[in-house]
Amino acid sequence: MRRKPEPTGLLFEEPEEVLAAAPSVCGDFYAEVAIQRPLDCLFTYSVPLELRARVEPGVRVAVPFGHKREVGVVVGTRAAPPAGAPRLKPLFSVLDEEPLFDAAMLQLTRWMAEEYACSWGEALSAVMPSALKREAGARQVVMIRLREELDEERAAALEKSQPKQFRMLRTLRELEGPIELRELCRRLNVTEGVGKSLARGGFAWIERVVSRNDPLATSSVQRRRPDALTHEQQAAVTTLEAALADGKGGAFLLQGVTGSGKTEIYLRLIESALAAGKGAIVMVPEIALTPQTVGWFRSRFGEVAVLHSRMTDAQRRAMWLSVKHRRTRVVVGARSAGFAPVPDLGVIVLDEEHEPSFKQESTPRYHARAVALRRAAQANAVCVLGSATPSLESWQAAQEGRLKRIVLRERVQGIRLPPIEVLDLRQEKSDHPGPPLFTRRLLELVGGALERGEQAILFQNRRGFSPVLWCAACGETVRCSQCDSNLTFHRRIARVVCHSCCEELPVPRACPMCTAPNPRHLGAGSERVELLVKKLYPAARVQRMDSDTMLRREDYEDALERFGRGEIDVLVGTQMIAKGLDFPRVTVVGVVNADQALHLPDFRASERTFQLLAQVAGRAGRGLLDGRIVVQSATPSHPAIVAAAKHDYEGFARAESRLRAELGYPPHGRLLRTVIDSEDLGKLDEVAQAVGKLLREAVGTAAQVLGPAEAPIALLRGRHRKHVLVKARRDSDGVERARAALRAYAVPHAKVRVSIDVDPVSML
Ligand code: ADP
Ligand code: ZN
Repeated sequence: MRRKPEPTGLLFEEPEEVLAAAPSVCGDFYAEVAIQRPLDCLFTYSVPLELRARVEPGVRVAVPFGHKREVGVVVGTRAAPPAGAPRLKPLFSVLDEEPLFDAAMLQLTRWMAEEYACSWGEALSAVMPSALKREAGARQVVMIRLREELDEERAAALEKSQPKQFRMLRTLRELEGPIELRELCRRLNVTEGVGKSLARGGFAWIERVVSRNDPLATSSVQRRRPDALTHEQQAAVTTLEAALADGKGGAFLLQGVTGSGKTEIYLRLIESALAAGKGAIVMVPEIALTPQTVGWFRSRFGEVAVLHSRMTDAQRRAMWLSVKHRRTRVVVGARSAGFAPVPDLGVIVLDEEHEPSFKQESTPRYHARAVALRRAAQANAVCVLGSATPSLESWQAAQEGRLKRIVLRERVQGIRLPPIEVLDLRQEKSDHPGPPLFTRRLLELVGGALERGEQAILFQNRRGFSPVLWCAACGETVRCSQCDSNLTFHRRIARVVCHSCCEELPVPRACPMCTAPNPRHLGAGSERVELLVKKLYPAARVQRMDSDTMLRREDYEDALERFGRGEIDVLVGTQMIAKGLDFPRVTVVGVVNADQALHLPDFRASERTFQLLAQVAGRAGRGLLDGRIVVQSATPSHPAIVAAAKHDYEGFARAESRLRAELGYPPHGRLLRTVIDSEDLGKLDEVAQAVGKLLREAVGTAAQVLGPAEAPIALLRGRHRKHVLVKARRDSDGVERARAALRAYAVPHAKVRVSIDVDPVSML
């Protein structure tokens, strides 16, 4: 997106004369620099004589930019300035002794910029650990904690005068120790200034600590290396090792039911890679990056570099350098681990490849799967996409031979997949209007497990007590003033909360629309489920796991450990509990309401529901005890639910794929989504219309342009939102044309934002 008139820019053209590593000492010497700004061009600087020996592609440099000093990355050098360029400014300094990015990484980021419509500098910034971005070295961690002696009266007064500080204070009171300020602010959607004000006001302490101990760095969880692989595992390893050995690599879809031992296959493949002197990257969803997961890899390979979002900058930098210098050959991490500078890369694993969190939802909006495939192809490495329920994109790619598919049908040790019972909530008698929260059958099963000393998991993918406050008099629901969303009642804090912007209010005693008293609490979130379970089974030890109770990563890990040791009987939670848990004593898994995700205005709603059900179902009967799974639904005949109940991934994928083909949606078509947002509805409208027209002209008959229309979330944090969708056949150049047109488009109003999302995952 162009925001300013073009500077000395080259629009991603190769510099005409690229110099070899050793520049001539006489004559001119220029550097092409990519800067982390949304400007679709490179900037050329002259290189002072004394810096020439150190300027080469991949090093960072400090450069003058307007009146500021910026850090950029040299992506090319040249002997002559671009034709017609004004006199070029000299760069200030070179920040690295050796290039941080090699040629392959420069190529990869350039592809990202092109593919996801951002600047090269923005793509590089996704790759670069943040400590490296700034010129200064390590940054300390800022922690905040509650002061012991609190002036209750002044604290209460904050509620009216400083609602954000009040919110933070309230949260701090629920924690037992300090929390990283950055993390807390992200959770509460406030700036760090709020915490500083709290400290100044005498409510909290802020302290800087040099390095926090990283639980993932010292995890001691072991995974025994099984003596023998199952036949299916062995066949998979043989195929993958052959691809590794022949030096050409390849892209594989490892489709294996939960508990089929996919992790062991990754481990063996990585062993082979290491034996051949090659390195490996394993990506897992952020939530699955637990001491357990990391421990498996560490117990097999000794040192493993872990890259995750909660590391300090200094830790991140140390990891990055250790990997770059071959001291550590295996990297485990979330999305961004895909960029770890592993030399001689042999293997890239993307586990749970269907997970939406592999798509980054801010610029650059890349998908880790696409990056992994691209990077593996560049390096002739083996790329393994693993899942029990592959995304339809990967499934289709396997159908067409773009991915080689390996299927694991059996669980290890012959443990069978537990039967799934679907219970119709509409058939169930209830003593109040509307369907009950639990069916009698589910209650029986949970009760039985508790009597036998086994464990149960209850899944409800929604936080809070009740998601809707509804006025029976006027039929309206209580909504956020800044967002197009209902306020959720949270009982423990006795407030209503907007899940979009985190704003919270006292519970209204009367309907804000018609003033009728006592709006009703409809529906149930995890908090309500927890309370009801406690009431029904007073002797059971119940733990709720959602982002309200698990504010800190340590809390989450601690709860999982207690569950593993049998100190918790029933785990109630949101999708936080659907992932990567492996507890043999769990024999009952209940999905309290399977319909929630089905009604989202997103063409992937069915797919998500199927995946979530399969994932949750995979939690039961992992050990030798038999498991039972109960899925409660008010639409039990929905194809996604029927297929999930039969463990029939193929049947689901085939039917869903046909439906998508009819509608032209991925995997059969490609999408490009443009979201336009602004506080000013008039200007928003004007830009949205212009974007729609621009896109229609640009794509012609190569694609269909839908909209502009209101986005499903039409108001977010006080900004109105519209979107335009480009739907192109996969064999057309519709997306490319749309992208090019948008990049050349200059938004006429400063306060209107236009964001481009290529191959979007979220449609809200
Ligand atoms: P998936 O990732 O496919 O859901 P996991 O890799 O978590 O499955 O494996 C499930 C369980 O089976 C783990 O506890 C693992 O230690 C065990 N396991 C894996 N392979 C074998 C094997 N060949 N023999 C015995 N146990 C195995
Ligand atoms: Zn809101």
